[in-house]
Parts: sequence; C-alpha cells; structure tokens
Amino acid sequence: MLNLQQARWHIAQRIGTIIRASKLFDTEPWGKEDQARFLNQALWVSTTFSPLKLLDMVQEIEISLGRKRLEKWGTRIIDIDIIFYSNKIIATDRLQVPHPLMQERNFVLQPVNEIATKWKHPILQKTVAQLALECKDERKVNFS
Ligand code: ATP
Ligand code: CA
Ligand code: CA
Repeated sequence: MLNLQQARWHIAQRIGTIIRASKLFDTEPWGKEDQARFLNQALWVSTTFSPLKLLDMVQEIEISLGRKRLEKWGTRIIDIDIIFYSNKIIATDRLQVPHPLMQERNFVLQPVNEIATKWKHPILQKTVAQLALECKDERKVNFS
C-alpha cells in the first residue's frame, strides 16, 4: 500500500500527470503460487516520454523504491509494467507493448477495466471490457 503510494508519487514527479487511477485490487499470486498476495493498481498517465524512455524511468523508480532483481515472478517491493502506450505496437527484446500477458491476467484486466474500459487492443482488436469478460484466469481479484 505504502509502496504503491510512493510509486504514484514518483510517477507524478518524474513521468507525467496521473489522469486516472483505479482502486487497489488484492490479487492471488500469478506464476508462482507459493507467495503472498499482491496489491495491484492501474494508472493512466499522460507523458511526453517515448516508450523506451518511459521504461527507463519506470525502472529507475523501481530501483529508487528499493527493488532488487530477484527471481522472475517472485515477491518484490514494487513492479511497474507498461500495459499499453496509446495504440502503439512495440515488439523488441527490451519492451513489448501492449504487455504480452495482459489479456491472460485478471489482476491486470480488472484494474485497467476500471480506468480504460473502451481502450482497444491494437493486435487483438478487442476492448478491455471484452478482454476482461473473456479472460480465463481463475485467480480471484478483489477490491482491497
Ligand atoms: P511480467 O512482464 O510477466 O509481468 P515481470 O514484470 O516480473 O514479468 P520484470 O522482471 O519486472 O518482469 O521485467 C523483465 C523485463 O521485461 C524488463 O527488464 C523489461 O525490459 C521487460 N519488458 C518488456 N516489456 C515490458 C513492459 N511492457 N513493461 C515493463 N517491462 C517490460
Ligand atoms: Ca509484471
Ligand atoms: Ca515488470
């Protein structure tokens, strides 16, 4: 909770204006199940940074909040992902946008649906509302 608050503060200071913020969602762990639950939040941010510069900034903020590179999908203090960037499609080693797993994760779709329900996935050609309805993810996501 405090980590999310600090992350929002850094984002507002260093990346751009937070246009909308979802509620906090409490989520069962994904990928590795033997760990604590996650808190997730989606932010809609207006920025002048390019996608790659945005990724640099997001990673700097993760480090300033004390994130160390630990095991993939393991417990961490903070994880800031770029879910989409307008309707851009980016497929490089360092950055994939829209986030390639967004449509498979309720913990992404539920918060994003709250703030950007009509955004259309540029590859799947479906809105967030549709993706949320069709998602097969069984993990429960609750308002926190
Ligand atoms: P996942 O991406 O499945 O949620 P993760 O968030 O745990 O996994 P990280 O260890 O935080 O993965 O990030 C690994 C790398 O993913 C980053 O160093 C970054 O270069 C890359 N990456 C690719 N696309 C994105 C994106 N859309 N948002 C954030 N990082 C991305
Ligand atoms: Ca992630
Ligand atoms: Ca990440």
